[in-house]
Amino acid sequence: MIAISGNMAIMPNDNCPIQPLDPLWFQPYVQQVAMLRLDMLHPVVSGNKWYKLKYNMAHALSLGCDAVLTFGGAWSNHLIATAAAARAAGLKSIAIIRGLHGQDDITPTLASCHEYGMELVFVSKEEYKLKDDPQYLNTLSATYPSAFIIPEGGANEWGRAGAGSISHQVPTYYTHICLSVGSGTTLAGLRNALAASVTVYGYVPMKRGIYMREEIEPTLHPAQNINWQLFDDWHFGGFGKRNEELISFMNSFYDMHRIPLDIIYTGKMMYGIKQQLAAGFFPADARMLCIHTGGLQGNVSVKDKLLF
Ligand SMILES: *Cc1c(COP(=O)(O)O)cnc(C)c1O
Repeated sequence: MIAISGNMAIMPNDNCPIQPLDPLWFQPYVQQVAMLRLDMLHPVVSGNKWYKLKYNMAHALSLGCDAVLTFGGAWSNHLIATAAAARAAGLKSIAIIRGLHGQDDITPTLASCHEYGMELVFVSKEEYKLKDDPQYLNTLSATYPSAFIIPEGGANEWGRAGAGSISHQVPTYYTHICLSVGSGTTLAGLRNALAASVTVYGYVPMKRGIYMREEIEPTLHPAQNINWQLFDDWHFGGFGKRNEELISFMNSFYDMHRIPLDIIYTGKMMYGIKQQLAAGFFPADARMLCIHTGGLQGNVSVKDKLLF
């Protein structure tokens, strides 16, 4: 594998805590539920994003690029993580952002990206849809010839390899690994890296999200394409949508465990898991590890309603 340059080591990446949940939360349904706190990785590059980016940065450096270019929305955890990781790697960063924002509607996320030195390029929703189109990517390469292009969500082989390295923090004690799904890169990387006998459950916070199966399947090693399943029941109206019930669930979860969940991904996942527990979905001897993939910076949009 490609060596990571020295200054990338400013971010610790292999020692996030595993926090067992209060037995009151999961008994008598399963044996154990714990959370792998990737949200505690770094104040900005929290969660799974750093893992998806680390080999992308190394690859960009090995190609002799002096910048990375990637894609995201105005609240994107991926963009802010890219801005910080690129800076740590000594690379410039350029973001192609969905939607034509004015100076007045720069989100806190984009403001932080800018502080990290990221160049923000706003494009129409129509243009943004071309983000995976080879011809469009050629045009971008011609405009930014020294930039390595990382797909939205870090969804490439380096992203999956990096996400797979999260498996080093997953003790073999656990029988079920639960995580949120956006691009599916983290799930694919982990499914490939974990023992095939471990069950991997992905929670997609979008309507009809289980279509993601078609995107994930081709990226799995055939022998690893077993023991995994997606759920999309807990989207709360669609990606980014929320209601009072979700917010009060997140508050009571924090009250019990002092774990802040994020409103887009992990809040919805833990809500779903709680319902699955009560429905007897998991075997009684299951030892579950839920991955806290971070994303807490996005909570500023509901800050006044959260206890944390
Ligand atoms: C990006 C993100 C995900 C989804 O990760 P993918 O690899 O794109 O599936 C899950 N949780 C959080 C908090 C995220 O920011």
